[in-house]
Formats: sequence, C-alpha cells, structure tokens
Amino acid sequence: MNSHLNDILNKSSLTKADIVYLLKLNNPSDLDLLFQQAVNIRNEYCGAKVFFRGLIEISNICRKNCLYCGIRIENKAIVRYDISEKEIIDTAFSAWDNGLASIVLQSGERTDKVFIHKIIRCLQAISDYTQHKMRITLSLGEQKKETYKLWKEAGADAYLLRIETSDSDLFRKIHPDNRLHRFEDRLRALEHLKEIGFQVGTGVMIGLPFQSIESLADDLIFIQNLDADMAGMGPYLEHQETPLFLWRNHLTDVNERLLLTLKMYAILRILMKDINIASTTATDAISSSGRLKGILAGANVIMPDITPEKYLGKYTIYPNKPVSKLTLRKVLEKAETMVKTSGCEPVLADRGDPVHYLLKSL
Ligand code: SAH
Ligand code: SF4
Repeated sequence: MNSHLNDILNKSSLTKADIVYLLKLNNPSDLDLLFQQAVNIRNEYCGAKVFFRGLIEISNICRKNCLYCGIRIENKAIVRYDISEKEIIDTAFSAWDNGLASIVLQSGERTDKVFIHKIIRCLQAISDYTQHKMRITLSLGEQKKETYKLWKEAGADAYLLRIETSDSDLFRKIHPDNRLHRFEDRLRALEHLKEIGFQVGTGVMIGLPFQSIESLADDLIFIQNLDADMAGMGPYLEHQETPLFLWRNHLTDVNERLLLTLKMYAILRILMKDINIASTTATDAISSSGRLKGILAGANVIMPDITPEKYLGKYTIYPNKPVSKLTLRKVLEKAETMVKTSGCEPVLADRGDPVHYLLKSL
C-alpha cells in the first residue's frame, strides 16, 4: 500500500509536486489506483459514458511549418487534398442519418477568404439540415477573432486549439521563429475563443524532445487555469519528413509515451472532474487498444475518423495513422464494441456537451 499516493488521491486540490509525483508513478498497483480514481470521478461527474465525435479531416493544406507535423507547408513529399464543400456537407448529413449527433471538422491552417466562407456555408448547411441539433466542433487553427465570431454565428459550438506545450521555451524549439508561430498569439486565440462563447478545448503533445515531467505538470495546470471545457492530448509521434525527426534519439520509447499520456488523462480528470477528455487516435497508432486504455484512464470522448474514403490516410500529421476502410456504419459499430468492453455506454445520438461548460452557462 502506497500511503503517499493515497494521501494525494484524497486531497481536494493538487500541488505541482503532487502532479509530478503522479506522473512519475510506475508501479502497476499504483497505476491501477490512479486510473481507477479517474474512472470513478468521470463516472460520478460525467456518467459512465463515452461520447462519439465523427472526425472529418477536410484538408491537409496548411500555411504553417510546425517542426513536428507531417503536413507542414515545407513537406513536399505528400499529396495535398481539399475536400469539396458538397462532400463535407454530405459526410456530415450521412453522419447525422447514421445517428451521430456530433462532428469535428479539422484541417491544416488556412486564413484566406475562400476558406473562411466555405466553412461558413458548411456550418450553415449542417445546422439547417439538423435543425441546429448537431454539435459541430472546429479544429482549424489560429484565426482572427472576427473569423471565430463568424463561424460561431454560422453554427459552430466548440473549438479545439491545442497550445501544444505551455512552456514558451519549448514552444519556440518546436516551431519556426517567425510571425506565424508565436506562443503569445496562440494564447490570445484561446482567449478570443472563450470570449466569443465557444466550448473551448486545448491540449498538448506528450513525449516531445526536450519536454520534462515538470513541464507536463505545468501543462495540466495551464489547462486548469484556462478553465478549458475539453482536452485533446496525445503522444508525440516523430515523422520522418519533419525537422524535429533529427531529435528522435532524445525520445523515450513509444510505449512509455503512451503510458505518460494515460497518466496525463487520469490526472487531468482528477483536476478537472467534469470536462470532456478525448482518448485520441494517436494512442491507437502506438497500441491497437490505445483508445480503450485512454477510456480506462478517465477519458470520455472518442473521435472515429469518418473522412470520405478517397481522402482517408492522407491527413498524415504523424506516421502510421490508423485508417479503416470500413463503411461509416461499420466504423461506428466497431468503436461501439470497443467502448462497451470498457464498461462505458457508447453515446452517439447525444451532443455530449461538456458538463463543465453547461454548468458555467447556467
Ligand atoms: N492545424 C490545426 C489543427 C489540426 S492539427 C492546428 O494545428 O491547430 C491537430 C494536432 O495534431 C495539432 O494540434 C498537434 O498537436 C497534432 N500533431 C501534429 N503533428 C504531430 C505529431 N508528429 N505527433 C503527434 N501529434 C501531432
Ligand atoms: Fe499546420 Fe496544424 Fe500541422 Fe502546424 S500542427 S503544420 S498548423 S496542421
């Protein structure tokens, strides 16, 4: 029996030292205790449920050059695609017709007028078709406050913008030093999203080169201080066609990165009991049961990929991204079976807005 661990798990608030201690746990029985506590908290505050978001990766065209990402503008070794307005809308309609009440539109970052207005028209069409009942999340990078406003007015409910790391020095190491990649701008964008009234999600990559356990503890405190409604965190996976690949010898083994990710989910659940935490697809790139493990560590959201088949596998932000050439119905059925093995109820037809956000807006 680890009495120090028990003391920490019984505290009403955690210090940075407590978080660091939890992140360093390695003994299987200690880890079981941590994950069980996270699951109990999730079940009490959010229900023993896992909400589904159909993820549509609408384009891998990006104006940015993040040093870790496989779709950065300078990677010439990939085929770029841009899904048409009609295909995006049709995919969303078919998700709705298959009983899914929540989707995410994700892409590389573009800020041109053509892109902004295409998104507006998609949002309006999907909102109209579903009588504003489908929950639409956007993950389209940093934009002007005005753009975020236009998208919110057109029907978007939630926005995911990872801070990537809350450590400004590390942020500078993993991004080019130019005006498109400023830590302060990313922070400002998150503030704008909150001011506009979005359900705001953020998160970090876990296991980056030069990233310490203390820095990850700060990341969790950052998410808490931001008062985020949702979190999307995943292991960093080195991509051969990116500059950060040079530092691959500084990385821990992928299984250690996965375990660290699971600890991050569990600790965040203990810190922020009623937010939505995604068990991200990158965990599945390490282990075929990665997302299941995430749910067993306190996560309550999964994002099955529902990108139209002809574009599947082209959104290669990291290597070995799992793709499934199954029909939409089959993708959902498979994910439902996986969720059931965790003891949670798979929820497709409910928007699954974060309890944290709903309570704030009362
Ligand atoms: N372009 C938008 C949204 C899509 S990218 C943006 O950057 O906000 C979605 C996420 O993919 C990024 O936030 C980043 O955390 C993650 N990502 C990119 N490259 C990755 C890599 N090599 N390993 C793991 N995650 C990566
Ligand atoms: Fe573009 Fe996002 Fe990748 Fe950066 S992380 S290069 S903004 S897609």
